[in-house]
Amino acid sequence: MSHRKTVLVTGGASGIGAATVTRFASDGFNVVIADRNQEAATELKDSLLNRFGGDANDNCVDIFCVDVSQQDQVQGMVAFAQQRFGSLDILVNNAGRAGSGPVATADAEHWQKVMDVNLNAVFWASQASLKIMLEQGSGTIINVASISGLGGDYGFSSYSASKAAVINFTRTTALDHARDNIRVNAVCPGAVATPLIEGVLNNEAISERALEAIPMGRPAEPEEIANVIRFLSSDEASFMTGAIIPVDGGITAWTGQAK
Ligand code: NAD
Repeated sequence: MSHRKTVLVTGGASGIGAATVTRFASDGFNVVIADRNQEAATELKDSLLNRFGGDANDNCVDIFCVDVSQQDQVQGMVAFAQQRFGSLDILVNNAGRAGSGPVATADAEHWQKVMDVNLNAVFWASQASLKIMLEQGSGTIINVASISGLGGDYGFSSYSASKAAVINFTRTTALDHARDNIRVNAVCPGAVATPLIEGVLNNEAISERALEAIPMGRPAEPEEIANVIRFLSSDEASFMTGAIIPVDGGITAWTGQAK
């Protein structure tokens, strides 16, 4: 019998991360929800165990409280996943934070924080996980970037720069491990209905313009991103590595010129 695979999802307590965790739990994986929001992570863990079984002895979902902007905590998180379930097969680098403000007025401390959470954490978690995956002889990493890393984004210099860096980090990591049975890919969501962009979606004036810019005319549901992450993690995607996949309702298919 093949062993039950283990997936570690950073930022797994909300939005895209929570939908991803839910999908993997429903598909019978061991899941580690890594998040700094312990309350939300615990609540999700309890609801998943209720829905998909597992008990105190055969527990397939666990949480790890982490601030991914801290390197030692990220390393502890990866070690926990392997020790808890005996392997680490899939890493989903999903935790992220928004950055705001045009360059001229951007705050240096905020810039650094966005880089730590959105970019450096991806490096730290990947490095620690790759050591385990190389020893196992298998593994896959999925990075949650953004279409803001594919093109410029008004007023989002730090966010856009951090996501562009994640995209090329994904490509390079994929090349470095293409012959190690380790695949590395990224998804680039457009607008997704999660707490991260609640402010935009709840503001009628902004939201109308934002939705107008999406050819499909609506934001994604978090499950629509989780579906692609799940696909990339599976053997169905066995020849995909270094791929950067927009999941954006058509935004990046559009030149932006008036209709
Ligand atoms: P969300 O705010 O719903 O969830 C983010 C989760 O990450 C939260 O549970 C939060 O507690 C956790 N988190 C944030 N900072 C953390 C830290 N330092 N340490 C540990 N956990 C931390 O956001 P979401 O929309 O689901 O975003 C998930 C990813 O998707 C992010 O990388 C984001 O940049 C990306 N993304 C989102 C959208 C969108 O429109 N929502 C679009 C493109 C890309």
